[in-house]
Amino acid sequence: MSVQLYDTYSRSVKDLTPEVGKPFRIYCCGPTVYGPAHIGNFRTFLIQDVLRRVLQVDGVDVKYVRNITDVDDKTIRESQANGISLREFTDKWTEKFHNDCNTLNIIHPNIEPSAVEHIPNQIELAQKLEAKGHAYATEDGSLYFRVSSFPEYGRLSKLNLKNIRSQSENSSGERNDADEYDRESINDFALWKSRKPEDGENYWDSPWGEGRPGWHLECSAMVEASFGGETIDLHGGGIDLCFPHHENEIAQSECAHGRQFSRHWFHTAHLMVEGEKMSKSLGNLHTLDDLQGKGFSPMAVRYTLIAGSYRQQLNFTFDGLHAAKSALTRIERFAAALLEKTGEDKTMFASYISSNAPEDFGRFSKAWDALRNNLNIAACLGAIFGVIGSNPSAQMNMEQARCMLTALGSLLYTLGLNLFTACDQDATVPDDILVLAKQRWEAKQARDWDKADQLRGALLAKGWNIEDSKDGFNLLRE
Ligand code: AMP
Ligand code: ZN
Repeated sequence: MSVQLYDTYSRSVKDLTPEVGKPFRIYCCGPTVYGPAHIGNFRTFLIQDVLRRVLQVDGVDVKYVRNITDVDDKTIRESQANGISLREFTDKWTEKFHNDCNTLNIIHPNIEPSAVEHIPNQIELAQKLEAKGHAYATEDGSLYFRVSSFPEYGRLSKLNLKNIRSQSENSSGERNDADEYDRESINDFALWKSRKPEDGENYWDSPWGEGRPGWHLECSAMVEASFGGETIDLHGGGIDLCFPHHENEIAQSECAHGRQFSRHWFHTAHLMVEGEKMSKSLGNLHTLDDLQGKGFSPMAVRYTLIAGSYRQQLNFTFDGLHAAKSALTRIERFAAALLEKTGEDKTMFASYISSNAPEDFGRFSKAWDALRNNLNIAACLGAIFGVIGSNPSAQMNMEQARCMLTALGSLLYTLGLNLFTACDQDATVPDDILVLAKQRWEAKQARDWDKADQLRGALLAKGWNIEDSKDGFNLLRE
């Protein structure tokens, strides 16, 4: 059985198989680097990471590309508000994104193209579309894609052109601010936007005059730059990108190259917070730093964000995070019991984490099959706990324990869950000490070193020492 996954385009579950002699080519829309990514963004990136790992463990050679969106309304606006160049601003947030990905154990893409570094590719692609009659320039020096020139438009999102809402604002909130009377049709979208005063220094020369690319163009250009204009095997992103972003990518790429853009479309449902949409204005937007500051380990965060069905919205709650922490502890206890049988200590578990699938997953076969069957992570975890609950280690000899550790190690590699890494707080730490420690962590995140030192002093005075690790802090009694 090969790996199977739901495809938004055909609305069916399909096999994921590479073309003979080629790697399996994946492109995922990456982060817009204008601040720290929130845990909703990470839900999408984590689920994509698990899919990549499933394919890898299944023996498929994967080429994984995920871009950085470093030029759009938000990055330009925020860099200007911060009084620094767009490059300096986006570099800072790209680095933060990379650090968070490492902390969450997300494997780095094989290629991570940046939109700004592909402006010439974007211009070339737009020129090709114009030459083929799929795009037209307007008097203000913008270029629009002519949606009526592509009859397949709307197939992915199953939208009828008549009902498609205006693209004057896309799902990521970016405004397409060209005057509507300039466009032939309300559905036409900007490939190139003429220079505006609010763009500051962020404009480039083009055949249509100074300006910058429209947001949708970048992914079509970066897919072409990374995969040479060939049909790719899978394209992914959060469900909000389905329309108009992915619809527009299809239109641009298929009209330019005359061939299918992607064979498979993989969309992840959104993360909600305590039943509501996550947003700054509701004050329920969490970042990895926030959760670490509250004492949760990155592995507990990873577990929480991958555990549900990727096609259903996931409701993030602190109860859920606590449950993830307990679930990880149960897996750790089980692994520790197996390690006892093999005469190894906990540090040896890392040597069982492997991307090589064992010959036979044995008692964990159901868990492995669940992952290959439309990435059913919830069923995989359920099957793992089914095995753990039956307490098999009790009657095992050393060889059997080693086989089980090997299978568990491959499964945990696939889920990206490392064991025995959390600096979980000792349950006996008094609440007032924990509050001070969290305030200190927050001060550190805000680079308020004086306040952080002051709080460390306050903790020491109460007999507690604090140690920092990349995962958070640990409290030790003096
Ligand atoms: P952005 O940084 O806004 O370009 O988004 C990066 C990725 O996160 C995209 O694939 C989005 O579709 C996805 N995304 C945005 N919000 C959420 C959310 N609440 N839950 C899951 N994925 C999201
Ligand atoms: Zn994209």
